[in-house]
This record gives sequence, structure tokens and C-alpha cells, in this order.
Amino acid sequence: MSRIYDLHSHSTASDGDLSPFELVQRAHAQQVDVLALTDHDVTDGLSEAAEMAASLGMGFVPGIEVSVSWQRQTVHIVGLHIDPDSVELQAGLARLREFRNWRAEEIGRRLEKDGIGGAYEGATQLARGAIISRTHFAQFLVVNGYAKDMRDVFKRFLIKNKPGYVSGEWASLEEAVGWITRSGGQAVIAHPARYKMTATRLRRLIRDFRELGGSGFEVVSGTHSADEIKYMGRLANQFELLASCGSDFHSPNNVYLELGRLASLPEACTPVWSDARWQDIGLPQ
Ligand code: AMP
Ligand code: MN
Ligand code: MN
Ligand code: MN
Repeated sequence: MSRIYDLHSHSTASDGDLSPFELVQRAHAQQVDVLALTDHDVTDGLSEAAEMAASLGMGFVPGIEVSVSWQRQTVHIVGLHIDPDSVELQAGLARLREFRNWRAEEIGRRLEKDGIGGAYEGATQLARGAIISRTHFAQFLVVNGYAKDMRDVFKRFLIKNKPGYVSGEWASLEEAVGWITRSGGQAVIAHPARYKMTATRLRRLIRDFRELGGSGFEVVSGTHSADEIKYMGRLANQFELLASCGSDFHSPNNVYLELGRLASLPEACTPVWSDARWQDIGLPQ
């Protein structure tokens, strides 16, 4: 019987709605055999999630989703099997969170100029002490009637050329891949179809990533269409990258991205879990 892997998910440690504890419980209820928690730029949820997974006899992979600026565009690099005790990784993530805090204030100031008061305070409150992300600003704007839903709010306020967008100085691709791999993890390009890159640009990203020691490609994502999965599968094979799959689950309220409800990897792909690191994930062989 084949196992269900879900290698991209979020908890309240970043911008998810479920605590690490609840997330793992939900994954278990959805028959997920192996879950990776990959919060944005923070590892605070990992120990709670690992403990819960162990008590349920579920496989668990400590992960991260690192925000990266590559050629003036934000891309996300997932790390699987990272060591949360890595000093270098934690120093890097702390720097990204500092930038996040400054950016949140700046988003607040810009929205204020646009006639929307109290956004920084509102988003901070919604983040409840965890990292503050655009998701929290989006929630504030929807709750206060500035937009009708999450899709609408990003389009109108929170993307490039909109009042609440602040361009990022995140990690370089080299830093992100280095922090992950030197902590013992596998680096994976997250949801490649979401960047809407031309084929040439996406290939350039993959080449850079490979040269820096990256090895994985998220062929199957909760946000990829069937055609995108096929295309990304071909790219993974062509560039000899290991294929990963993850829902990018944030909340039970988003019915499209349920945990563990993923298409299977295209047949010719080599999965990330063919690597030796995956033999010790808390499951019988
Ligand atoms: P940040 O890392 O703070 O810039 O926030 C990015 C997060 O916002 C992503 O991880 C998603 O969870 C969320 N996000 C980005 N674009 C959208 C969108 N169009 N609709 C809903 N959520 C989005
Ligand atoms: Mn997110
Ligand atoms: Mn992402
Ligand atoms: Mn994500």
C-alpha cells in the first residue's frame, strides 16, 4: 500500500489557522502517513507537532519554508529534514523575521496613507505573537469590510503595485539553500507554478538552485492544476530533481487545499523520500 505524504503545511506558528497540535491531528484524520510542517521563516511549531505525530504513530518531517528574493521576485524554498537547532539556520531566520516586523510596520504606514487606519495593530493582534505575514493583513482587511474575500484582498491591496505591498529583502537563494542543506536538510523549490515565470526564467531559477546544492522540486502542490503537475514533473526529470508533494494547507476554511488530498506524483518522477534521510521518520519500514 502506498503512503500518503503531505510535505508542505502551516500552523499558527506562521500564518496557519490550526495549532501544530491540531494540524497533526487533522492530518492523521485525513489518513496522512507522513506530514512535514513548513512554517514561513520560523520553526517554533516543530517540537509540538513532532510530539503529537509520535503519539499518533504518524511519520513527521521537520521543515521550513524560507522566503527568498531571487532576481527581484519572491520565491519560496522549502527545507525538509532540517535541524531546528542549527545556529546558522536560526540566525538566518531571525534576520528574516526582523525584516518581516519592519515590513509589517511599513505596510501599516502605507495603508494608513491610503485611508485605512489601524491595520498594523489589527494584523499584529491576529498574528497572536507568531510571525506577522500578509495573510494577517488580509484577514484584517476582510474582517473590516475593505474586501470581500482572501482572493480579492490580495489582488486589491497586497500584491506588487498595490498600496499595501512592500518589496522584500528576503534571503538570497544561496543563503536559503545553504542554511537548509548545511543543517542536514533537503532544499525544495516550493509551488513552482505559482510564480508565473516564463519557461526560460523558471529554468534559470532551477539551474541556479541546482548549482547551489538544491535537490527538490514541488511537482505536486495543492495550488497546481493537472497540467501544471505534468509540466513540473517533466522539468523535475529533465533537471534530475527529486519530486515533492504538499498541500500548502493553511486553514480548514479553505476547502481546496485539504491535507493529504493530493494528486500522485507523475510516474517517471523520483520522489524526495527516496533519499536515505527518510528512513527515520517514525514509521515502520
Ligand atoms: P508573506 O510571506 O507575509 O509575504 O505572505 C505570503 C502569504 O500570503 C502566502 O504564504 C500565502 O499564505 C498568502 N497569500 C499570498 N497570495 C495569496 C492569495 N492570492 N490568496 C490568499 N493567500 C495568499
Ligand atoms: Mn502562507
Ligand atoms: Mn509559499
Ligand atoms: Mn506555504
